[in-house]
Amino acid sequence: MGKQSSVCIDLDGTVFDFYGDFSNYLTLHTDITVTDETWSNTPYPEGISADQFEELHEQYMKEKRYRSMPPIPGAKEALLQLYRAGYLLLFATVRPDFVEDHTADSLNELLEGKPHVLFQRPNKVSFLKDSADYYALTVDDNISFAKAAAVGGCPRVALVNSARVQGEKVPKGVRRVVSLQAAVNWLLSEQPESPRYKWYQAVREAGQ
Ligand SMILES: [Mg+2]
Repeated sequence: MGKQSSVCIDLDGTVFDFYGDFSNYLTLHTDITVTDETWSNTPYPEGISADQFEELHEQYMKEKRYRSMPPIPGAKEALLQLYRAGYLLLFATVRPDFVEDHTADSLNELLEGKPHVLFQRPNKVSFLKDSADYYALTVDDNISFAKAAAVGGCPRVALVNSARVQGEKVPKGVRRVVSLQAAVNWLLSEQPESPRYKWYQAVREAGQ
């Protein structure tokens, strides 16, 4: 497998709308209204303590909300576009092991059974640092993970913009994008001559 044939995509906040869904959940189960802005620059939404957050997050997972978390609009199309362009889709997530089956099911459904690889990494920073040069593109909504991929040598690292990271400085080697689709456009527009893309074009033309 060539260096430029794979992409590494984060799940929550990049493909699946974890923050939207969990914000709704927190709003239902606390006395504050949680929006995307509430998360700005903090690991926990403003007004919710660390203990309360952990407890509600565990409850959220136990209620199997990960199984029904909606995708971010446009994410599915962007992933299928990458697949059709010949890239191997790899997903790296820090979701806990006990939701691995749910994660696998929802990814399969989203990708309509298209082949892909799912990594469950408790230490995603190390994982991205160690393997980033294997990927043509890394897309994440977390600054630490984006930075790790850039440090690891990934030639294109996209940080999905959100209210959570708007005030943050973008690390060197990282490009801020509005969505996964924008990151895909960046990769495909600047790299139309990649070997896998050429191979894919040839296969398509031969089939027509
Ligand atoms: Mg994320």
